[in-house]
Amino acid sequence: MAAGLRRAHDRADVAVVGSGMGGAVASTVLAEAGLKVVCLEQGPWTRPEDHPHDDPDWEWRRLTSFSTAPSVRRLAEDYPLDTRDETSLMWNAVGGSTVVYTATWPRFRPSDFRKGTEHGWQPDWPFTYEDLGPWYERNDRDMGVAGLAGDPARPPRGPFQTPPVAPGPLARIAGRGFDRLGWHWWPMPVAIIAEDYDGRLACNNCGNCQSGCPRGSLGDVSFTHWPKAIAAGADLRPNCRVERIETGPDGRASGVVYVDRMTGTRHMQPADVVIVAANGIGSPRLLLMSESGRHPNGLANGNDLVGRYLMHHGLSIVEAWVDERTDTHKGIVSAALICEEFAETDPRRGFLNGCSLHIVRLNGAGYQALGSHSGNTAPWGAEHHATFRRRFAHGFGILCVGDDLPLPDNRVMLSATETDSSGLPAPKIEYRLHTNDQRLMDFAVDRAVDLAKACDAFDVNVNRFTSPDGRYAPPAWHLLGTCRMGSDPETSVTNQWGQTWDVPNLFVMDGSLLPTGGAVNPTSTIGAVVLRAASHLRDTFAEARVAKRTPAV
Ligand SMILES: Cc1cc2nc3c(=O)[nH]c(=O)nc-3n(C[C@H](O)[C@H](O)[C@H](O)COP(=O)(O)OP(=O)(O)OC[C@H]3O[C@@H](n4cnc5c(N)ncnc54)[C@H](O)[C@@H]3O)c2cc1C
Repeated sequence: MAAGLRRAHDRADVAVVGSGMGGAVASTVLAEAGLKVVCLEQGPWTRPEDHPHDDPDWEWRRLTSFSTAPSVRRLAEDYPLDTRDETSLMWNAVGGSTVVYTATWPRFRPSDFRKGTEHGWQPDWPFTYEDLGPWYERNDRDMGVAGLAGDPARPPRGPFQTPPVAPGPLARIAGRGFDRLGWHWWPMPVAIIAEDYDGRLACNNCGNCQSGCPRGSLGDVSFTHWPKAIAAGADLRPNCRVERIETGPDGRASGVVYVDRMTGTRHMQPADVVIVAANGIGSPRLLLMSESGRHPNGLANGNDLVGRYLMHHGLSIVEAWVDERTDTHKGIVSAALICEEFAETDPRRGFLNGCSLHIVRLNGAGYQALGSHSGNTAPWGAEHHATFRRRFAHGFGILCVGDDLPLPDNRVMLSATETDSSGLPAPKIEYRLHTNDQRLMDFAVDRAVDLAKACDAFDVNVNRFTSPDGRYAPPAWHLLGTCRMGSDPETSVTNQWGQTWDVPNLFVMDGSLLPTGGAVNPTSTIGAVVLRAASHLRDTFAEARVAKRTPAV
């Protein structure tokens, strides 16, 4: 046990680290099964009045104290990132990054699960899209998803919980452009409810989703899951930062050591099973911080794969302005439409994998003037008003999302120089886009420009997110792959249930598990994967709590 501990707690069945998408789903499933669940979350609750929505400075706060980048807001609950040019986006509080995400909710495609078979530059998943199907459905019911059924480009699916959110004039304009090009498009599913659902209020289209949603209409797990988990008996402890996972003489996890950030006291929480759900950066960081004589490279890291294969998705944004009003300062920020015309590999294009194009809104007036989405700042001085009058309410964004290859050198390590407010080493991040993915993103941007032209845009701005020295440097909004699951203990960190190969009562249940990232936003898939894994743990808990080795299933 670590030195300086003040309090030891009663043994829990399960200790969960992190209360975001993965931690909330796992805690709810296990608490509802009657298990004693303790969840440690390094951040506080975000109360409705904490959101900037009613503040006259709401847009400024969105870019400063409520920024989605911890490196900008610099709160005590955040940890710094030791990185060359990466701006990682996350929210460290109850609900995790779902507090501020835009809830774009597409599913992966069946081919995403078998890229190893398709071309071998990515691994096959340890299960298929069809295996995950029922868990996608259940997870959607728990979140509440708005959408339109019947997309002919996708496998059949169950009903959406509410009709689509208001499409606004943007959908008509972009849909017409897609039609001119003959490309497939469909309303984007979103985890935002267009009608009251499950005790939550329908979206009021205020358009400030990225400052979170004080109404609870956005699928933030602090609204969708935590009230249910707590009612079922889960003990959620906010402001408690886990600094290491302890192991016993048998090599199994014995519990977690954490710091209560409010009092500075250190605690030991013993548990029969430990679940790490601290996201694609926080989870490998914690496993690496948990090194010991028996696990000198960190926990679950016998094959040196913890922290490797970090994926973010390729991201570029094309902005277009048209004569018709788009009114993109109103309504939900997440995509109105998705185009998956180019989502599959086509070898004739000269690269592997594919991309999706998302038609998105542009946030409020101040945000647009500052070019915060696209880097396209309105000029100051005499030209400002003329430019703004011409463009405001006439623009829209085309988000290009590419499936980036999982590369071993794209990784999370521990910083030798930077620490968080508890004195723990910051994560050090290395991430470079592979030439294949650079080509893919160039292709995606070209197609987005085609679409802008097909919409009769009078001006187009391309933001490839390049750093001053020419490196690809978009904000890292998706944190995936760093504790990848698989069927082979040599090439993965966990089995298909998130159970680590090295420590049979230690599980990972968050975005770190995904072996590939698909060409769309990942959180509906993270939720479904964790729901499947946590349900399996619930059903096999008696074996998991005493297991001496991890079954290769
Ligand atoms: C601005 C933004 C927009 C996004 N938009 C979308 C979108 O439209 N669609 C989509 O699919 N995805 C989107 N995402 C991504 C989505 O939010 C994540 O994929 C999802 O939340 C990941 O879930 P997770 O469980 O892996 O981690 P998280 O939800 O990030 O939760 C991790 C939690 O662990 C806690 N934690 C970390 N370390 C410790 C520790 N040592 N001790 C205690 N607690 C710890 C953190 O504080 C955090 O609360 C967006 C993300 C951002 C930031």
